[in-house]
Amino acid sequence: METADKSHASVLNRPSLVLNKSWMPVHVTIARRAICLVYRGVAKIVCTEFQVHDLWAWIALNAESAEIAGGCIRAPERRFPAPEVIQLLSYDKVPSYAAPFSRRNLFQRDAHTCQYCGKRFPTDRLSIDHVLPRSRGGHTSWDNCVLACVRCNSTKGDRDLKSTGLSLLRPPRPPRWTPYLNLRPSEWLDSWSPFTTGYDRRSATGS
Ligand SMILES: [Zn+2]
Repeated sequence: METADKSHASVLNRPSLVLNKSWMPVHVTIARRAICLVYRGVAKIVCTEFQVHDLWAWIALNAESAEIAGGCIRAPERRFPAPEVIQLLSYDKVPSYAAPFSRRNLFQRDAHTCQYCGKRFPTDRLSIDHVLPRSRGGHTSWDNCVLACVRCNSTKGDRDLKSTGLSLLRPPRPPRWTPYLNLRPSEWLDSWSPFTTGYDRRSATGS
């Protein structure tokens, strides 16, 4: 019973992609919150065929397949799959948040790629390099920090860039905000692919 409750809780905490009225991703929430929005009538559940359903239609649609599909929400007398994509019915904007500077977001901006040699590395083989070293007044900010591999980092040391012979792949800039900014690749659901063209799940943090 305890295992079933834990499993149910984890289903309710699964990620759910939120689209605006124009089918553009604007947020990633959890299934529990997605169900509330659908129940309140401000959103509908989207299935992979681009069809939208209110909560009762979703329950009816999945009444027979729920047991087989697994990953179901249990409500009194009801079982239905956790919504993986929902669409807001009246919100038509795209958020323009500034991405906060953080280690996790920096790894996503630079896509786990050393910004000097251009090679991709696992997290533990990369470090954050200050282009203008802190000892020379460089700030810890989007436009002065990049990912560097062990080799490039030791080549650069505490020198400024001009004296090292290294060059940056691109000038470091604040990243464009995306709904997936804090998402790990393992949390990215296959059912999102029709709506996430142009985003690379491999660049999500945590890999
Ligand atoms: Zn490198």
